[in-house]
Amino acid sequence: MPAELTFAAPRRAKPPRHLADLSPDERRAVVTELGEKPFRAKQLAQHYFGHLESDTAKMTDLPAEARERLGSALLPPLLTPVRHITCDDGMTRKTLWRAFDGVLFESVLMRYPDRVTLCVSSQAGCGMNCPFCATGQNGLTRNLSTGEIVDQVVAVARDLARGEVAGGPGRISNIVFMGMGEPLANYRRVLDAVRRITDPVPGGLGISQRGVTVSTVGLVPAIDKLIAERLQVRLAVSLHAPDDELRDELVPVNTRWKVAEVLDAAWRYAGTTGRRVSIEYALIRDINDQAWRADLLGELLAGHLVHVNLIPLNPTPGSKWTASRPEDEREFVRRLRAHGVSVTIRDTRGQEIDGACGQLAAAEQ
Ligand code: SAH
Repeated sequence: MPAELTFAAPRRAKPPRHLADLSPDERRAVVTELGEKPFRAKQLAQHYFGHLESDTAKMTDLPAEARERLGSALLPPLLTPVRHITCDDGMTRKTLWRAFDGVLFESVLMRYPDRVTLCVSSQAGCGMNCPFCATGQNGLTRNLSTGEIVDQVVAVARDLARGEVAGGPGRISNIVFMGMGEPLANYRRVLDAVRRITDPVPGGLGISQRGVTVSTVGLVPAIDKLIAERLQVRLAVSLHAPDDELRDELVPVNTRWKVAEVLDAAWRYAGTTGRRVSIEYALIRDINDQAWRADLLGELLAGHLVHVNLIPLNPTPGSKWTASRPEDEREFVRRLRAHGVSVTIRDTRGQEIDGACGQLAAAEQ
């Protein structure tokens, strides 16, 4: 059964239709229905994706009498920033968004010397129920629409372009689907969002596919669907344990698709795309950070096109778990490297603003 059927989201009112939900053909059809010339669709898209402008009142190349009509039909406001929180001297900025129906979700902007990464949400809440993750604790509220995913990028890109973020004017180079939600459980909307993010202007935002990372708990049928899309995006698999016994607990969907099946799918992805798969592994003190688990992980990954990202656990409020001791972390890295596996420790950007795991939205609710 396709993943999006088995993990069906609760039924809720749909977000308003937005330009970013539509392919260029669909945009032309809507514009024509509104009694406008088809080329107006391209003008609107040029403003939205090219100039990051959503306010049709400022689109002076559109006929004055058509601006409001086109705006309400194709560029309705989707997201209201509830607040921005910054840390790392402003180089990390987290935004809490409210959608039309009041649901809350987050994006996190991270500026580095060589790149600018935006971490986006694909769902309000999450149905995967991983016990160490703040988002998982409240379940899934609903899927985000393609427009709601893309508009996180456009709104932040606009702030960056206008110099409203510390560090001066800039552009987003990388997008990671590591905010709230399981992207592959909202497959069609996420895939359309990836196309909008990566298609050249005015089809989309023109960010390189190679700069986009889709992170998943390991929904195997959806990984295979993604392979068939023939994209160049990076796949990240949240493994967190090399053995089924522990992974059943840390990533409950493992009871459906076991470690071996998930890794097989990852190797198919690497084989087809030629891209190194990222394995995400949150290091949790005395839970998954033992030397024998490092060796087992090293054996499973050795010889494959893979890179391991170790993430020091960012403890959620009230959690009985915490990050690994520095010496255990070092030993874990050493053993993976001894197996010839490439590994880095994820920098803990935004920890003081709960950047890693949906805690802000959780606090707000
Ligand atoms: N659902 C997707 C993407 C969202 S989470 C996935 O699971 O991959 C992005 C990454 O953050 C995942 O690897 C997730 O396991 C990890 N994560 C969640 N909560 C965390 C925490 N408290 N500390 C460290 N990493 C966490």
